[in-house]
Amino acid sequence: ELTQACLDRIDAIDPKVHAFLYVDREGALATAADVDARRAAGEELPRLAGVPIAVKDNMVTRGVPTTCASKILEGWLPPYDATVVELLHKAGMPILGKTNMDEFAMGSSTEHSAYGRTGNPWDLDRIPGGSGGGSAAAVASFMAPLALGSDTGGSIRQPGAVTGTVGAKPTYGAVSRYGLIAMASSLDQIGPVTRTVEDAAALTEVIGGYDPHDSTSLNEPVPALSESVAQVAKDGKIEGLRVGVVRELSGEGYQDDVLEAFNATVEKLRAAGAEIVEVSCPSFDYALAAYYLIMPAEVSSNLARFDGMRYGIRVEPSEGPVTAERVMAATREAGFGDEVKRRIILGTHVLSAGFFDAYYGSAQKVRTLIQRDFARVFEEVDVLVSPTCPTTAFRFGEKMDDPMAMYLNDIATIPANLAGIPAMSVPNAVSAEGLPVGFQILAPAHHDLKMYEVASLVEQLSGDIAGNCPAAQWEEN
Ligand code: GLN
Repeated sequence: ELTQACLDRIDAIDPKVHAFLYVDREGALATAADVDARRAAGEELPRLAGVPIAVKDNMVTRGVPTTCASKILEGWLPPYDATVVELLHKAGMPILGKTNMDEFAMGSSTEHSAYGRTGNPWDLDRIPGGSGGGSAAAVASFMAPLALGSDTGGSIRQPGAVTGTVGAKPTYGAVSRYGLIAMASSLDQIGPVTRTVEDAAALTEVIGGYDPHDSTSLNEPVPALSESVAQVAKDGKIEGLRVGVVRELSGEGYQDDVLEAFNATVEKLRAAGAEIVEVSCPSFDYALAAYYLIMPAEVSSNLARFDGMRYGIRVEPSEGPVTAERVMAATREAGFGDEVKRRIILGTHVLSAGFFDAYYGSAQKVRTLIQRDFARVFEEVDVLVSPTCPTTAFRFGEKMDDPMAMYLNDIATIPANLAGIPAMSVPNAVSAEGLPVGFQILAPAHHDLKMYEVASLVEQLSGDIAGNCPAAQWEEN
């Protein structure tokens, strides 16, 4: 019944939200029926058995279309399941479908999807964030209770902030990337998109853990996140908590109401007994520049596999000889959108012999400096906090002609990816315009537990925000 209710809601409201690229009715209902039968037979089931979920369309699903919102993968049916998908199956969680995104996860608005944009359930004329706008919109508008996203530079957290949902990027390596179509492998990480911190904890316990198929997978047990979140929810405080406010992530360039909401939440944390310390991470001023060199370098290499031979579409040149090289060129010309091409060209350039040291080499040095800044301030504090992104949801088209303006959205989320540390966005306010605001919490690598505890506290101090999304009032008829 729950799965059917989600599918009915998708039928009723997704025509206006467009969060889904593919809805797998039969697959979802089959899993649900199987769970019902096992439950009826008295079997002890995993905790989230029967709870439906939506999956971002860059995670491969056997026999179910997976496009990365790109024309180049149109019609491709993956021959295997990503590890996270396999884990969802094992947990008995019906997969409702695949969600819209910026093409190959490149963007901050979901406007770079080759299959049309997704609306923000708080205001359908505004962006739902990106790249994982589909997952965030599906959860925010109650089409799915849970979703999976991927975060290379903020694609779970920024959509979370602008749609009033919770989004977490675990410590790099805590969740397997096997079967996540790679954007920038040293930065990519899968994580939960939910309406509550407790849900994010429960979902992470399902998808986390060691995977021999991923050479960067951490070989350590999944922390007991749910238990700690429940404890903090009960106690209403965290003993001896030290919170660092990062000076470089909360000043110039941030919208006034975003900063006000941020400062108000920091004051509430102080009132709840936390020690608040201002810290400085000077290298963060170069994080965006370093990210937009390292990420495209990895993109240019990872996307070389889309060659018209192995996956998706194949386009032959309109005239002249049909050589392998010319088929590859015609396929990539027709299959990739502008933003993807821009990054492949930029990445190829920064890796070329004459420019490697100046660009890629320098960016890697900055990456080290950022890691050192984090290490230094984490000696003083347990977690760091900042606004998740500089603005609330902007209108469609506002930043599409200006890549730099689009990239600036990622200013606060990128440092965590460059350092591999866990980071999370929790909704902390609704602006005077009626748009949600997100609060970011960062913790040292392997300390996801502490991050979840603080997230639970922030959630309590902020009250229910996801429940106030206007989509809650939309009729289903
Ligand atoms: N907005 C960032 C970018 O365009 C982040 C993308 C992501 O996290 N996948 O690269």
